[in-house]
Amino acid sequence: MTIDTHNHSLTFSDGALTPEEIIKKGEEKGYRVGISDHLSKFHKIKTDGDLEKYVFYLNKLPCYKSGEIDLGQKTIFSKELLNRLDYIIGGVHNLFWEGRWQCLWFMEEEIKEPDKFMELYKKTILRAIREPVIPIDILAHPTKLPSYLARTFKEEIISDEWIEEVLSEVKEHNIAVEINNTEKVPSERFIKKALKIGVKISLGSDGHSREGTANLDWCLEMGKRLGITEDNLFQVRKERK
Ligand SMILES: [Zn+2]
Ligand SMILES: [Zn+2]
Repeated sequence: MTIDTHNHSLTFSDGALTPEEIIKKGEEKGYRVGISDHLSKFHKIKTDGDLEKYVFYLNKLPCYKSGEIDLGQKTIFSKELLNRLDYIIGGVHNLFWEGRWQCLWFMEEEIKEPDKFMELYKKTILRAIREPVIPIDILAHPTKLPSYLARTFKEEIISDEWIEEVLSEVKEHNIAVEINNTEKVPSERFIKKALKIGVKISLGSDGHSREGTANLDWCLEMGKRLGITEDNLFQVRKERK
C-alpha cells in the first residue's frame, strides 16, 4: 500500500485538515498516511507536554505518527518521547546566513555568494546526520532552494558532488530521501543517483493545504518514470533505531 509519510495537520501545526480528515483523504486516494507535524519552537508543538498530547492523540488513529524536526537546530524534546514516534522526518528550514537565521521559504532577495550558501546548506545536512541530536529516518525536501536561487540558477547550482556527498551520508546512516510533492524536489538526477547506491525513497505530500494534503500525484508520476518499486521505498520499522 502506498504510504504518504509527510502530512501536516491543522490541529497540531500549520496544515488545513484535522488528522481524521487527512486519514479520510488518504483512504480516498488509496494511501496510508503519516501525520508528521512540525516539532519546533516556531510551531504549535513546542514542549514535551505538547508532544506527549500529540502522540497520545495519534495513537488512537489509523495512521503513522511522525514528526518533522529542523535540521541544524537544537531539539527541545526528550529523546524518550521522540522515540515513541514511528519515524522522524528531518529537513533544513532555516540557515544562519549573513548574520541572522533565515527561512529558506522566505529568502526572496539576491544571495550574493550562491556557492558559499550551497556549501553551508550541505554542511548543515551532513553535520545533522553525523552528529544527530536525534537520528532521523527520512531527509525531507532535499535540495529545496530559496526562490532567488531556484529562479536564477535552477538545477545548475546543485552540483553532482553536492548530491553525491549528501547521498553517501544518508546511505551510511540508513536514512531515506523524500520525493516531496509540494515542493517538487528533488530532481530526477538526484533520485537516480539515490537509487543507484540503494538509498530508500520516501513519498511525502508535505501537505499543508486542503488540495496538497494526502496528494502524491507528482511523486507517483516520478516513481513510475524512474521505475521505482516497492523494494526501493522506505518502510516503517516496528521500533525506531
Ligand atoms: Zn519541511
Ligand atoms: Zn513538512
